[in-house]
Amino acid sequence: MRNVLLVVSVLYASALHAQQPDLVRYVNTLQGTNSSYELSAGNTYPTTGMPFNVNAWSPQTGKNGDGWKYKYSENKIRGFGETHQCSPWVGDYGVFTLMPVAGELVVDQDKRAAVFNHKNETAKPHYYQVRFDNGVNTEIAPTERAAMFRFSFPKGKNAHVVLDGYTKLSAVSIDEGTRTITGYVTNGAFVPKGFRNYFRIVFDKPFRRAGTWENKQNSVQAGQLTAEGEGIGAFVEFAPGSVVTAKVVSSYISSGQALVTLERETGQYTRLEQAKDAGFSTWNKLLNRVKVEGGTEEERATFYSCLFRANLFSHQFFEYDAAGKPVYYSPYDAKLHEGYMFTDNGFWDTFRSQFPLTNILHPTMQGRYMQALLDAQQQCGWLPAWSAPSETGGMLGNHAISLLTDAWAKGIRGFSADSALKAYYHEATNKGPWGGANGRAGWKEYYQLGYVPYPVSEGSTAQTLEYAYDDFCAYNLAKMTGNTFYETIFARHMYNYRNVFDSDRKLMRGRQVDGEWTTGFDPFAWGGPYTEGNAWHYNWSVFQDIQGLIDLTGGDEAFVTKIDSVFSQPNTVNVGSYGQMIHEMTEMVNANLGQYAHGNQPIQHMIYLYSYAGAPWKTQARIREVMDKLYNSGVNGYPGDEDQGGMSSWYVLSAMGIYSVTPGTDEYVLGSPVFSKVTIEMENGKKFVIEANGNSKKNVYIRSASLNGQQYDHNWIRYSDISDGGILKLEMSAEPNRERGLRNEDKPFSLSKK
Ligand code: CA
Repeated sequence: MRNVLLVVSVLYASALHAQQPDLVRYVNTLQGTNSSYELSAGNTYPTTGMPFNVNAWSPQTGKNGDGWKYKYSENKIRGFGETHQCSPWVGDYGVFTLMPVAGELVVDQDKRAAVFNHKNETAKPHYYQVRFDNGVNTEIAPTERAAMFRFSFPKGKNAHVVLDGYTKLSAVSIDEGTRTITGYVTNGAFVPKGFRNYFRIVFDKPFRRAGTWENKQNSVQAGQLTAEGEGIGAFVEFAPGSVVTAKVVSSYISSGQALVTLERETGQYTRLEQAKDAGFSTWNKLLNRVKVEGGTEEERATFYSCLFRANLFSHQFFEYDAAGKPVYYSPYDAKLHEGYMFTDNGFWDTFRSQFPLTNILHPTMQGRYMQALLDAQQQCGWLPAWSAPSETGGMLGNHAISLLTDAWAKGIRGFSADSALKAYYHEATNKGPWGGANGRAGWKEYYQLGYVPYPVSEGSTAQTLEYAYDDFCAYNLAKMTGNTFYETIFARHMYNYRNVFDSDRKLMRGRQVDGEWTTGFDPFAWGGPYTEGNAWHYNWSVFQDIQGLIDLTGGDEAFVTKIDSVFSQPNTVNVGSYGQMIHEMTEMVNANLGQYAHGNQPIQHMIYLYSYAGAPWKTQARIREVMDKLYNSGVNGYPGDEDQGGMSSWYVLSAMGIYSVTPGTDEYVLGSPVFSKVTIEMENGKKFVIEANGNSKKNVYIRSASLNGQQYDHNWIRYSDISDGGILKLEMSAEPNRERGLRNEDKPFSLSKK
């Protein structure tokens, strides 16, 4: 008996050991949802979806077409919809919504909106639930391309589900026999001509009544089972008090493909819980690949909420056909192709942190993605820069090359470097038909003068800096692959940042065609030669050559003082060419860290630059302060737009103790981790551990370090150190070690490093 008990308890213990801890419980999908047009705390919505999903789902408080689809401050929900939205500033596409309506049938989106309280809401990656004050309960559990919905209606009241066709042309067809609504929607500002998102909704209960309606006049056609037109929707009615489960799916390819996907992703499910459990398991496995120990409960919640958002974009845009082959409708040429496609991402936001994090966690996907970038270029003639799902050309720079080079530098293959360089060369020597980041605004002047002049191009100095960095990426990819032709070409341009540095003012400035600086300089003025920032913010956009920037500034001491002064400057805003406060300005004022505008991308790497100038302890202290002060797991959790995982990845990397200042190289700069131990599990199962002994809110400084048992004084580690597995041990202290990390070889990569 004793032996049997022993065996049982050993088995029990090993089963417990095999089971991964529940890290999904830390994720709050409401993080950052308390946002508005005027002020962004993330500009997120409660994304209910799988990692890099094709289709995600969200409750909708805003009117159809409003980018702020869910505001935490609202108290009414008007529908639950499929979503693909990157950002409220770009808007959604392919949206349709479902709304449970109890009692009288009400279709009007304002009138059907139901009151709810956040205490009756559950917001998790794999499960969303809300009980309205009227007693109707809605639950959603997603798969990659579909979802299981469950509507529970109160007893004694008629039970309706209203399908809203959102904006623009849509169509519905109701089949009472199979309890199915099929149709399509076409909405989206950046979708190709002829774009259709074909949906299919299959209910598990028979309809008592059904019909169509349209959301302009809100006229209802009971008994009419098909319709097509602007804002066309449908309604179905069930027995009072019904609990109705619906499988919801869509396809960009065809209605038939939607059926294939429905079978593939939900065919085995009869209950919502099955999708919920599978979703939990997928997310939990992914979150367990970065295990943190130490820190506070709130810091763990912030970390895993951010890790969740770091794993949503880019969206997969491919589907699996009946034979299981990946196929996709291309947002770039509106044709059907075999293979993988990814979209919904503004690389200006994400090249800095989201992709360098993804290269650690998902190298296989990243290899497919890099090939997809080149396929997209073949399909539309241009590399993607800001796609949603087709190219918008938004923001600036040609940062696809940063992604391609960064992947290559980290050993990720599956694409042709020569094709990448050829595509980039075309990008850098032409201007495309869409926005400023489609080809190059000001490319001719950039080549003739070595800078983009102002006012020839809005954002000219920001463009010069980012073009020079992109040219470095192309140079480095050419160098790594022995392509001397492109190496020679781009080597000529990667120092062009020098041409917009005013050595009197010691700041990057707008420069005219005649070589003179623009007049009326005010370092607090936003816009003009800068994009969404000012001279203080863009001074640091020399990712490829921080040592060169230090030299221009007058050496280490002057450079450290310069970074210090960003924090000691007043948080003054001159709205400049914007003419009014934009939310990024308000966020900088609110953060109250001088001119440190962490709410937007340009300055987000600056704190790490102390480590290039002999003051790594200043990086360590400031990075901890900013993580602590500006991030949390709540509805005000971000200091500005989250931006497709960009801001979340900044936090995830920084909280692990590393950051990628120069994507396109194999280095990550060391900071100061939030946690006493971080274990990163690679795709191949190898583990890299970052241990920070004695870490606490006070002990933020690295006294000493070792890598795999050897003393380690560099302020950087290589990608291969992480991907090969190993252990980085940090001894933390309340006092800075002013001797560590000062030698030239301790400084991270710079083109001008001696
Ligand atoms: Ca931003």
